[in-house]
Amino acid sequence: MNCTACTRPLDHAAQLCAPCVRGLDVRLTELPGQYLLLVDHLRPGAARGDGPVALVREAPLPVREDVLTMRAEGGIVAVLESWRSAMQDARGWGQPARSGSMERRVLAAARGLLINLDWVAAEFEAAGDLAREIRTLAAQVNALLDPAPPALSVGDCAADLGDDICGAPLRVPAGTTDVRCRRCGTEYPPHMWMTLATGAWATPEGAAA
Ligand SMILES: [Zn+2]
Ligand SMILES: [Zn+2]
Repeated sequence: MNCTACTRPLDHAAQLCAPCVRGLDVRLTELPGQYLLLVDHLRPGAARGDGPVALVREAPLPVREDVLTMRAEGGIVAVLESWRSAMQDARGWGQPARSGSMERRVLAAARGLLINLDWVAAEFEAAGDLAREIRTLAAQVNALLDPAPPALSVGDCAADLGDDICGAPLRVPAGTTDVRCRRCGTEYPPHMWMTLATGAWATPEGAAA
């Protein structure tokens, strides 16, 4: 039996593997907040840190269609509500109410899926499609929120390769906290970044920390 989202082999009967469940959990948890954040990105340049004050003073800029579409009836809310609806259908439940503001509907649909995540992961036959579609949606939303994310530099890899220190530059890819050396594969959790950035790894005390 394999995960229906990523095809990884499963050691017990289920629809999704643990990493795919975790990813779905995180994305469903984050999407309502990201929906709210998108309002700040409706105008080009608004995300560049000009702030609201600069926006009022300048002539109105055109609205970004891609952001508008994502926040409109056929966007995030449609994906979440149709999956919640399909899930309730598969469980033999009635259809969920779709009422209130768009914000409330996004939140209600995401929560409705989240509280049924265990069942989805174990039993929902469309779980693989659900997980993949939510992953695509979250990637699109993230791209709108952060169109050109700069990778953050945290210093050089301090891994001891036997006769040498690796020394390859390390970057935090935008939107993650995963720092992995591209040269030697050593991983650095966030609590080590400051040590790396200050170069303290070069000293024996630093290396031992
Ligand atoms: Zn998987
Ligand atoms: Zn390295």
